[in-house]
Amino acid sequence: MINVTIWNEDSIETSAESVLAVYPEGLNGAIRDFLKVNDDMNVRTANLEEDECGLPDEILNSTDVLIWWGHGKHQRVPDELVKKIHNRVLCGMGMIFLHSAHFSKPFISLMGTTCSLKWREGDRERIWTILPYHPIAKGIPEHFELESEEMYGERFDIPAPDEQIFLGWFAGGEVFRSGNVWNRGLGKVFYFQPGHETNGSFHNEYVQRIITNGVRYVAPVEIVEKIECPHFESLEK
Ligand code: ZN
Repeated sequence: MINVTIWNEDSIETSAESVLAVYPEGLNGAIRDFLKVNDDMNVRTANLEEDECGLPDEILNSTDVLIWWGHGKHQRVPDELVKKIHNRVLCGMGMIFLHSAHFSKPFISLMGTTCSLKWREGDRERIWTILPYHPIAKGIPEHFELESEEMYGERFDIPAPDEQIFLGWFAGGEVFRSGNVWNRGLGKVFYFQPGHETNGSFHNEYVQRIITNGVRYVAPVEIVEKIECPHFESLEK
């Protein structure tokens, strides 16, 4: 069984009307609803407004895969929590960052770069599957379209992905590395670009399948208690 925690900076109560018009249960609720039908997943949600930002040790340390969506409140996530998340990934936890989580503290910490990109609101996107044999691409066609999504364009300031699975093309002409995996320590990190809060991409069947496949792909075989390295102090999750 994979213990999945979906984290968002907003609860339903704090989500804007424009978001609730597209996702009546909020972003967390939308992602939870398509993941919870899977018999191999225990799914729970957490958000920034809860005690300890929704991720006290007992939640974080029982999470196999952490899904992260953030936008305007990245700086409210304390550095101490970011370090715990980073170290748990090194110990084996899988992590999925969606859309504007490219600027979240845990993603920047795991990448070691600025993670900046080019952006523009509202464009048609065509997502190309460029690693069709990859487990995250299982059941995904050669390409599919999202009628309206926020344009994210290159240059995306990330380290070269270990696996680049999807490439996004926008009607305005830009391209973007939209689905990428990195190995960090014993953990896997998957970034996937669609998911602007007012665009409805989490209702798309292929977006749902990619995130579902992603959970299974980054799920750890095992999470170790501590990484021992003679050159550094021990990393505890
Ligand atoms: Zn956005």
